Amino acid sequence: MGVVEELHELRERALTDISSAQDTSALSDVRVAYLGKKGSLTGVLRGLGSLSAQERPTVGKTSNEVRRALEAALDSRKSELEATELQERMDAGALDVTLPGRRRAQGHQHLIQRITREIVEVFVGLGYTVAEGPEVEMEYYNFTALNHTPHHPARSASDTFYVRDRSEGAVVSATGQSDVLLRTHTSPVQIRTMEENDPPIYIIAPGRVYRRDIADPSHLPMFTQVEGIVVDENITFGDLKGTLDHVVQAIFGEGRRTRFRPHFFPFTEPSAEVDVSCGICDGAGCRFCQGTGWLEILGCGMVDPNVFGHAGVDTDRFNGFAFGMGVERIAALKYGIPDLRMLVEGDMRFLRQF
Ligand SMILES: [Zn+2]
Repeated sequence: MGVVEELHELRERALTDISSAQDTSALSDVRVAYLGKKGSLTGVLRGLGSLSAQERPTVGKTSNEVRRALEAALDSRKSELEATELQERMDAGALDVTLPGRRRAQGHQHLIQRITREIVEVFVGLGYTVAEGPEVEMEYYNFTALNHTPHHPARSASDTFYVRDRSEGAVVSATGQSDVLLRTHTSPVQIRTMEENDPPIYIIAPGRVYRRDIADPSHLPMFTQVEGIVVDENITFGDLKGTLDHVVQAIFGEGRRTRFRPHFFPFTEPSAEVDVSCGICDGAGCRFCQGTGWLEILGCGMVDPNVFGHAGVDTDRFNGFAFGMGVERIAALKYGIPDLRMLVEGDMRFLRQF
């Protein structure tokens, strides 16, 4: 077979290969196979030198024609394939502007954090400042300075998480427990604040507290408190009552009533528990309030002079009141949450509702 026939045959093969290339990358392989440095057409041209002077012009002319034909075919197939690929990419990422938008999930504050902030804002509006203290606390600040007797049951290792025990060389207190614990209330912050500041003092202490309770519908081993203390001249129980009435209505809504019941706390005297009228039956009595018409929401009282003594406050000149509430309980009462554990389980179907 002569070189010219060989070229014609090469052109036919190449044109078939070009038209059957299914994408631009396969087409680029075809180009290299025929027109590249080691390609078939290049190989034929390399052999030109061995041809006779008579054959050379015809072969040269034919090979140029073949090259031009292949280049034209390659270019046209390339445009075709590029158009197809562009269409495929557009189809894959197609935008239908008539479709409703996809809402991006947006984070928000946890219900407990939000209610804590709401409570804090009510007190800040009354002129209180926010105080904070350590969650790992000395037994002295958590119990002794708050007038708990040496054998008060709350001090026992079955009620309180102790961080250091005797075997680790901890200082052992009169009660036989070590002296470092996870605070069981935020009241230690009140002692620390009174130690460092002179009256008048108007503070609230929000934060996490820990008790050795098994989690059940109404108990959590870790929960959130907002406690507060006022130290000033001529403070009366009436001031306490007026303050808490205002706060309860700010949290639960206008029209909710409060009720103060005598109670006992080691750090206040007299002490009271405060109930809010049931929001479901408005005090008539229903299942939610167990037929009483009232829901217990906080504890309070006039600060015991012994507590002022530990904190170095002049009791001849100053007195005051203190109060504390559990944020999880308030959340449960406000939103009718039947089980406190739902607040810490992290189930988004529950949390998204708030
Ligand atoms: Zn009720």
